[in-house]
Amino acid sequence: MLFRADADYARELDASDELAHVRNEFVIADPDQIYLDGNSLGRLPKATAALTADIVNQQWGERLIRGWNEGWFTAPERIGAKIAQLIGADPDEVIVADSTSINLFKLVVAVLRAFPQRSRILTDDLNFPSDLYILQGIIDLLGAQHQVHVARSPDSVHGPVVELRERLDADAALLTLSHTVFKSGYVYDMAELTAAAHAHGALTLWDLSHSVGAVPLDLHAAGADMAIGCTYKYLNGGPGSPAFLFIRRDLQERLHNPITGWMGQQNPFDFDLRYRATPGMRHFLTGTPQVVSLALIEPGLDVLLAAGMDRVRAKSVRQSEYLIQLWEALLAPLGFSLNSPRDPRQRGSHVSLGHPQGLYIDLALINDMNVLPDFRMPDNIRLGIAPLYTSFSDIHTAVTRMRQIVVEGLFEKYVDQAPVVT
Ligand SMILES: *Cc1c(COP(=O)(O)O)cnc(C)c1O
Repeated sequence: MLFRADADYARELDASDELAHVRNEFVIADPDQIYLDGNSLGRLPKATAALTADIVNQQWGERLIRGWNEGWFTAPERIGAKIAQLIGADPDEVIVADSTSINLFKLVVAVLRAFPQRSRILTDDLNFPSDLYILQGIIDLLGAQHQVHVARSPDSVHGPVVELRERLDADAALLTLSHTVFKSGYVYDMAELTAAAHAHGALTLWDLSHSVGAVPLDLHAAGADMAIGCTYKYLNGGPGSPAFLFIRRDLQERLHNPITGWMGQQNPFDFDLRYRATPGMRHFLTGTPQVVSLALIEPGLDVLLAAGMDRVRAKSVRQSEYLIQLWEALLAPLGFSLNSPRDPRQRGSHVSLGHPQGLYIDLALINDMNVLPDFRMPDNIRLGIAPLYTSFSDIHTAVTRMRQIVVEGLFEKYVDQAPVVT
């Protein structure tokens, strides 16, 4: 089909979309609302709403303490095994626990202690700030014996691959990056950089928060050592749902969780007074799992696994290409820039559009146009495409409303305001 910028064309694309029916699996409370923030908080799956009642009323309300032997205790591994299918790992290499930030802390400390002769961590300035804060805190905690090298992106869009490669040497303990960059959506070549790190004896730790459920991942094929990621974005696990971590099997006994708690203990119910780490991924658990929010991750995973990651990715690329074509036709003439890679192979599932009035346009979209994107400084209006429920018509409507805001100057009343969470 030849690209056209009219609404009928969007409807034609929806009519030929083999994943269009998956949208019915999600709660869509306001059909007029265009939701383009599934990369920050995925929509609520209908099955999750039903499961919530079961977990609270039956499992907690009726089964009470017996619930621990009826699925709660093993949920971190059971749900981890499902995530493993999405990231090219074995079922016993992934576990769900804590938050992404805390999992990063545990893994980075473990690596630095396992490689005491190496003192440098490599990362980039496109990484999620929390990841950089965690690295800074670790260096402090370990007595300022290590350094972080933050490679600089040449254009705030693409990853500084050349600089990262140059900085890998015998002193590098760890290369840690967001696989898909949260602002621009740039996607690193995981296999290429992992091989480069390994050539110097360094390990790699990938933050998959903006990748999992958005781009196909094959950690084994890429040779990746460790990974972490969120479940509340493209996995639709719900606000604050626990995160996951992956450790390549042959590293699992070499790395020691620095937050040693009873859930990582060999036989926690022996109540032995001396800590002995249990083998495998479970020793990266610390305290009691957040059972309710943990269990609520599973229905979203089932929807995604049924849809199939390859089909999800194919639709994501079609949709982001379509959005970029609309940008070229309708928004670029109004001063919008593309702050994401043009090449779909280097792009995740969100597209950032810049505009000098970006923040105010974003506020007008949210408050006056019933479009929910998000905004990342300095000028990025971030449009998250979640192929499980985003339609081509959603994308078309969002672009039309953005255009209207600029053409009619509807953003002007926001010029003096600044929101707290965007
Ligand atoms: C969303 C996100 C996080 C979130 O970390 P939390 O500990 O859940 O707050 C971390 N890293 C990246 C790359 C993210 O996109």
